[in-house]
Amino acid sequence: MSPEPADRGAISHPAPGPTELCTGGPPTDVMASTTGPPRDQPGAPCPCIPSLAVSDVFTALDASPRGLTPAQAAARQARYGPNELPGVGRGHVWMRLIAQFTDLFAVVLLVSSAITFLAYTLEQPQDPATLQLALAILGVVLLNAGIGFAQEYSAERTAESLQAMVPHTCRVLRDGEPRELPARDLVPGDVVLLEAGDAVSADCRLVEAHEVAVNNAALTGESDAVARVAGPVPAVPTLEARNCVFMGTDVVAGTGKAVVSATGTATEFGRIFRLTAAAPRQKTPLQLQVAAMARRVAGVALATGAILFAVRVPSGQPFVDTFVFSLGVMVALVPEGLPATLSVSLAIGVRRMARRHALVKQLLAVEALGSTSVVCTDKTGTLTQAEMTVVQVWANGVSHAVAGVGYAPVGEVADAGSVRELLRTAALCSNARLVPPTSRDGWRVLGDTTEGALLVAAMKAGLDPSVEEARSPRVAEYPFDSVRKLMSTVHGDADGTYRACVKGAPLELLARCDAIDREGTRTPLTEASRAEVVAAADDMAGQGLRVLAVARRRVPGPRPALGDVESKLTLLGLSGMYDPPRPEVRDAVDACRRAGIRIVMVTGDHPLTAEAVARRVGIVRGPAPSIVTGAQLDALNDDGVDALLAGSAELLLCRVSPEHKMRVVTALQRHGEVVAVTGDGANDAPALKHADIGVAMGASGTDVAREAAVMVLLDDSFASISTAVGLGRSVYRNIRKFLIYLFSHNIAELVPILVATLAGFPLVPITAVQILAIDLGSDVLPALALGAEPMEADVMDSPPRPRRERLFSTAVMGRILFLGGIQALGVCAVFFWHIHASGIPYADFTRDDPVYREAITMVQAGIVVSQFFNALAVRTDRQSVFRAGLLSNPWLIGAGCVGIALMAAISYAPALQAIFNTAPLAPADWAVLAAFGALLLAAEEARKWVLRHRSGSPKGGT
Ligand code: ATP
Repeated sequence: MSPEPADRGAISHPAPGPTELCTGGPPTDVMASTTGPPRDQPGAPCPCIPSLAVSDVFTALDASPRGLTPAQAAARQARYGPNELPGVGRGHVWMRLIAQFTDLFAVVLLVSSAITFLAYTLEQPQDPATLQLALAILGVVLLNAGIGFAQEYSAERTAESLQAMVPHTCRVLRDGEPRELPARDLVPGDVVLLEAGDAVSADCRLVEAHEVAVNNAALTGESDAVARVAGPVPAVPTLEARNCVFMGTDVVAGTGKAVVSATGTATEFGRIFRLTAAAPRQKTPLQLQVAAMARRVAGVALATGAILFAVRVPSGQPFVDTFVFSLGVMVALVPEGLPATLSVSLAIGVRRMARRHALVKQLLAVEALGSTSVVCTDKTGTLTQAEMTVVQVWANGVSHAVAGVGYAPVGEVADAGSVRELLRTAALCSNARLVPPTSRDGWRVLGDTTEGALLVAAMKAGLDPSVEEARSPRVAEYPFDSVRKLMSTVHGDADGTYRACVKGAPLELLARCDAIDREGTRTPLTEASRAEVVAAADDMAGQGLRVLAVARRRVPGPRPALGDVESKLTLLGLSGMYDPPRPEVRDAVDACRRAGIRIVMVTGDHPLTAEAVARRVGIVRGPAPSIVTGAQLDALNDDGVDALLAGSAELLLCRVSPEHKMRVVTALQRHGEVVAVTGDGANDAPALKHADIGVAMGASGTDVAREAAVMVLLDDSFASISTAVGLGRSVYRNIRKFLIYLFSHNIAELVPILVATLAGFPLVPITAVQILAIDLGSDVLPALALGAEPMEADVMDSPPRPRRERLFSTAVMGRILFLGGIQALGVCAVFFWHIHASGIPYADFTRDDPVYREAITMVQAGIVVSQFFNALAVRTDRQSVFRAGLLSNPWLIGAGCVGIALMAAISYAPALQAIFNTAPLAPADWAVLAAFGALLLAAEEARKWVLRHRSGSPKGGT
C-alpha cells in the first residue's frame, strides 16, 4: 500500500515547514527526545506540536478553525512551494546508459567483436570483411543499447504521466468553506478534512477525531491500523505521537479534522523518501518467457557456431577464417532486438488502455487482463451512474413520492409535513455538501452521493440543512462502515438534551429499533409492524432503489458509547433512491458474456435492489440467479463456497462486507480463475491486492483503493473494464504475431548455412553481416507494426486464454516451424539453383565470384520478400487474411516496403554492395522471389482453411 514516490510528483523547491510559526519554541530537551536522523531540513515541523492543546495548535501554526483565507494560502504557497516530493533519481543518465552494456547479450556481443577484431589484426593478409564484421557487431551492441535506453526512458515517462492522471486531491477548509484541492496545493496551516479511505497528503496534527484509525505501513512498516486522537499527548518521538497523521499514510477508519504542520520534503515521508532508492522495475511473466526463449535461441546459436567450426576446420578451411565465420553466424542468430520490441508492444497496450479510461499501473496487468475469466464488480458507480435521487420516502405505512432528478433541490415531496422529521434526521446525519451550480457545472455533491441525495430530499421538503445543523450542532459522530452498514451522529438541542440520529441499511437498523414513530408518537415495534417495514423496504428494493432506514433516540450526554447510540432506536421510516444504470454497460456485459467472462456482482446493497439492477444491465437474464448474502456466506465452509461458485453462472453477492469479497476472490483463484475485482473503499484494499487485477475507481474511489489496485478506471465504468480486457487480449495476440514472425525467419537464416556446410559448399549462402542487416534493418519495423496492430473485432468472441497457457505453446512452435520451414526451403532452392545453373564446381567458388555474390543476394532478398508475406500471414491464426483485410494495417505494409527498399539499396548501391558483397538483382529475380512469397501466403491460407474446417468454425482465436 505504500505510495509510489512518483505519486507525489516532481519538484525541486525546498519546502520548509512552519517551525518559525511555532510561538511556543520547543525546549532543547524536547528536540533531543525525537528519534530518527537529525532534522537537517530547514523548517522541519516543531516537535512540540503533539503536546499542545487543540486551541494552541491553531496559534502555533498561525491557523484558524475556519481554515486559511485564499490570500494566506497564496502567500504560504509562494513561501513553502508546492506540497510535492522531487522525482526519484533513477541513477545518473550515464550510469543508466552504461548499464545497457552489462546484460548477457551485450557482453557476449562485445567479447565477440573484440575477438573478431583481434583475428583481423592477426590475419595475413588482413581481410577487410573481418574488420567489417567486428564493426558490425559493435554497431549491433550500440544500436541495441540505444534502443533499450530509449525504450526504458519512454516507459518511465509513460508511467509517470499515467501516475499524474490518477487524481490525488484532498478536502480542506478555506475561509470556512470545504473545498476539494489538488494535494500539491496544501500549505502549512491548512485545515484538512479526513475520512476513511483518504491518503494523508501532508504531516498534520489532528484537532478533531471521530474513531480515526490510520495505517502507517508506508512510514513504519507496521501494517496494523492504529487509533488516533485529537487531544494533546506527551512529547514522544514525532512518529509515535497519537494525535498526528503523516504524509504517505492512509486513514482506514473514522472521520476527522487536522491542521497541516509540514508539507513536501519537510514531512516525515519526505525525509525517508530522500533516503530511499527507487524500487527495481519488475519483469512480467511474459517478458520472462520471452527472455527465456531468447536465451534458448542464443544457446542454439552458440551450438550452431561451435558445430560449424568443428565441421569446417577439419575440411581444410583456414582456422581464423572459420573462427570468424562461426562467430559471425552465432552473433547473427542471437535475437537482439526482441526484448525491446516486446516492451514497446506492452507499452503501446498501456497507452491504448489509458485512452479508453483504464490506467494500468503495471505492465503485468496488461497480460493478466487478457486472460481474465471472472470480473467481480461493485454496483454503485460501476454499473450505475452514482447519481442518486431520492424518489420515495416511506413513513407510518404511507409511501410519499419525491419529484425531480439529479442534485438540484427542485421538486416536491408529497405530503412533506409527515416526512419532514425523517428527512431532518437524515440530513443531520450526513457529511455531504451540496455545491450550487456554476457556469460550468450544475448542482454537485461534495462527499458521499447517498448522503447528498438525502440533503436534496430534505431541501425539497422545505428544510435548510445548514439551519438545522446550527439549531442542533453535532457533538459526536460514529462514521459509516460497510460492516455495521450504519452511521450515527449525536446532536445537542436547545433545551440542553442530546439526541442520536442514525441511518443505514434497513435490516441492520431495524434490528436496533424497539419502537416506530407513528405521527410523532413513539410506538413499540411489534412483529406485525416489523413485517410491514420489511415489506415496504422489499417493495422499494424490488424496484431497484437503494434503501436507507432512518431512526433516532435521546441519549444521556454528548459522547455516549456506540452501543448506547445504536440500540433502542425509534424508526422514523425509509428512503428509496434511484441510481440510473450507465447506458454503456449493457453492451459491455454482452461482450463479456460472448468472451466467456463470468460477471459476479458484489454489493453491500439489498438483494432485491441488486437483482433489479443486475437485470437492467443484463448481468442476470435467467429466471433463477443465485443470490447469496454475506450472512449466508459466513455460514459456509470453504467447500460450501466452492460448491456455490460452481453452481449457477449468474451469481449476486449481496449485503456483503469487503472481507466477503476477499473470500470470494480467493475461492475463485483456487478454481484456477483469473479474477478482476473492483473496489472503492479503504477496506477493499486486501481484495484489490489479492486479485489478479485489482481495479479501483478514479473518479469516486478512495486513495487507499487506488494505491492497492493495478488498474484505475478514470470514468469508474464497467464498460472500461471490458474494453481493457479486449485490449489486453489484443496485446497478447500481437505479441504472439511478431514472435512467430521473428522466430520463423531465424530458421530461414540457419537452415541454408547448415545445408551448405553439409553439402560441402566452401562458402556460406548468407553472411553474418547480411543476417544482421535483416534482423536489425528490414525486420524491425514490421515487427513493431505487428506489435501495434489495432484491436480485432473478434477479440471478445473466444473464451479466455487459460492461465497456464505458455506463450510458446505447441501450436505457436508448430507455426514457427511451418512458416520457417517453407521460407528455408525457398531460399535453399534459389541459392542452389543459382549455383548449379552456373555449372561451376563447388570447390572453385570464391567470395568475389559474381555468381556467388548474386546467389547470396538472392538468399537475403528471398528472406526479406518472404518476410513481407509472412507478416501478412501471421496477422490471423485461423481466419483468412483476405477476410480480415489484406491491407487493413497500412503501417505494416509501409514497414514491409521500407524493408524491401533497404534490400534494394543493398543490392544496387555500390557502397553497400562493397560492404555486403552483394550483386544487382534482375527484375526476373524479384519476380521469382515475389512468387515464392505468394506461395508462402497460399500455404498458410491452406493451413488456416484446414484448421477452420476441421473445427467447423471460421472464427475463434483469430
Ligand atoms: P454498491 O455495490 O452499491 O456500491 P456497496 O457495496 O458500496 O454498494 P455499501 O456502501 O457498503 O454498499 O452500503 C451498504 C448499505 O449501507 C446500503 O445499501 C445502504 O443501505 C447503507 N448505506 C450506504 N451508505 C450509507 C451512509 N452513508 N450512511 C448510512 N448508511 C449507508
